[in-house]
Amino acid sequence: MGTITNMPELPEVEVTRRALAPHIEGNSVEKLDIRETRLRWPIKIGLLRRIEHKTVTSITRRGKYILINTSSGTAMIHLGMSGSMGIFDQFVPPKKHDHFDIHLSNKKIIRFNDPRRFGCFVWAGKQPEKHKLICHLGLEPLEKDFRGEYLYQLSKHRKTNIKAFIMNARVVVGVGNIYANEALFLSGIHPKRRANNIGQKRYQNLAHCIKSILTKSIEMGGTTLRNFSFTYGKEKIGYFKQSLFVYGRDGEECGSCGTVIRRIVLSGRGTFYCRKCQQ
Ligand SMILES: [Zn+2]
Repeated sequence: MGTITNMPELPEVEVTRRALAPHIEGNSVEKLDIRETRLRWPIKIGLLRRIEHKTVTSITRRGKYILINTSSGTAMIHLGMSGSMGIFDQFVPPKKHDHFDIHLSNKKIIRFNDPRRFGCFVWAGKQPEKHKLICHLGLEPLEKDFRGEYLYQLSKHRKTNIKAFIMNARVVVGVGNIYANEALFLSGIHPKRRANNIGQKRYQNLAHCIKSILTKSIEMGGTTLRNFSFTYGKEKIGYFKQSLFVYGRDGEECGSCGTVIRRIVLSGRGTFYCRKCQQ
């Protein structure tokens, strides 16, 4: 088995959002308690204080960003390489790498932990979709508009390989390396195939596979995050890891045809495929 990264991908972020939502929506933010401002971008406390004493109307997701929406605007959080968030009682003392807390009117706190500090906590104002970190993002893979026709139309002049194409956040967000490898195996497409050399039918199949693998991972509680704060899905995480078809399985036999799975490096990323099943 190859190394499974701890980096939170779209499924872990969506699982986090779903776990946080019932605790935070409808409550107001009492105060922010920020112990470390040096994240990927310095935390601008003055701006973020605008969510204090405001009701959280919703908690949404765009790509791998979690958006905390209030009447005065939106605060945006990214988990970076090693971040996680959890709900705690307000008197639980912070541990190492617990960089900030959002105190809520229900006496709970949302606590952000990030050993490597590549995450961020930024003010995104009243039109978060225009914020520079998310304004360029492509479609959400789980939304209706993301279909094979969309990929096919966009691919017409793209000479890049299909794996890089679907991992491009300007095309579609949240298809990380594991999911790209798995979706290409499931749809029988060779990762090195040129994006403009794939027909509409195959793109329909690929879009379907991307949706189903992300949905399955969300249902399982996310694939990659070992120290995930919401433990209800933990046993199932292990199950999902075992159910990966090609990722990290170089040297093993393809479950479908028995051919040995190969590993190559494509655009700098570990790429796993079956040369018989994927053309
Ligand atoms: Zn095979």
